[in-house]
Amino acid sequence: MASSTGSPDRPHLSIVVPCFNEEASVGPLYEALRFLGAEIIFVDDGSTDGTLNELRGLAAKDPDVRFTSFSRNFGKEAAMLAGMRRATGQAVVILDADLQHPPALIPRMIGLAEQGFDQVVARRDRNGETFVRRTSARLFYRAVNRWTDVRLDDGAGDFRLLSRRAVDAILALPESNRFAKGLFSWIGFPTVVLPYRNELRAAGTSTWTAGRLINYALDGLLSFNDKPLRLAVYGGLLASFVALVYSIWVVGNTLMYGVDVPGYATIIVAVIGMGGFQAVLLGLIGEYVGRIYHETKRRPHYLVKETDS
Ligand code: UDP
Ligand code: MG
Repeated sequence: MASSTGSPDRPHLSIVVPCFNEEASVGPLYEALRFLGAEIIFVDDGSTDGTLNELRGLAAKDPDVRFTSFSRNFGKEAAMLAGMRRATGQAVVILDADLQHPPALIPRMIGLAEQGFDQVVARRDRNGETFVRRTSARLFYRAVNRWTDVRLDDGAGDFRLLSRRAVDAILALPESNRFAKGLFSWIGFPTVVLPYRNELRAAGTSTWTAGRLINYALDGLLSFNDKPLRLAVYGGLLASFVALVYSIWVVGNTLMYGVDVPGYATIIVAVIGMGGFQAVLLGLIGEYVGRIYHETKRRPHYLVKETDS
């Protein structure tokens, strides 16, 4: 497919850019990337603005630019997947379209890859973010690292370089529920972190509303393990144990001192408490069942509307 434009002694590089309503950003981003001589793969994730038009224009004038356009918005994870599937490079860099991921970092990432690292993960600080977002992110990562089997780093996003074998490993994972951060961490391989200063968005607005972030956090917690179920089992055991101790005390009390009516408050608290506990448990099980349901449908991750070739 794509022919390399990099010099033959250097491994050929592909850059994957997911774009959702980024008409103002793709042009400047392209200008920042073209000097790298890499294959640039833009994935238009069902944008409703002029993004696709911009991409058509870029692909028409530069043979190193390719694009895939989805039939609708399928989400960034799907867009990254589509881009990685098209990438032909020995190394693949994934970066956001909004210029928040500084292209200037790419040569250093390549340098680290040449030292033998399969994953070079750019990690930003949280400069310029609201207190709420910063704190919720901290809590999220603490929870994930505590309750799941994969390790996630705060600030380590999807901006990273992957070696060919790392990309192939990602592409070989069959699940349809793709929580990229978790998948990247799951495949392993020698990994190095490259810190950088967070840039504020150049144009447009972040598509991550609070609701989306909460859903994302839940996905992250649930897609990677069944530890929450284990936790529920322990919670249930604890509740049963407390109930047992209490009932022994109640029975003993009744035998010794006779029947005593007060107890309304205890009963109500116990009923409501257990009801809530069981509702949460059912919801938790439902989440997993829902995931199984989703996986068994085996739907494609995205549908393509148009490509450059
Ligand atoms: N994006 C995408 N599909 C979506 C949402 C976002 O492809 O449904 C792209 C978006 O165009 C950008 C990147 O994913 O290139 C990160 O999105 P955004 O800047 O909104 O997220 P943030 O930087 O706030 O985490
Ligand atoms: Mg952004």
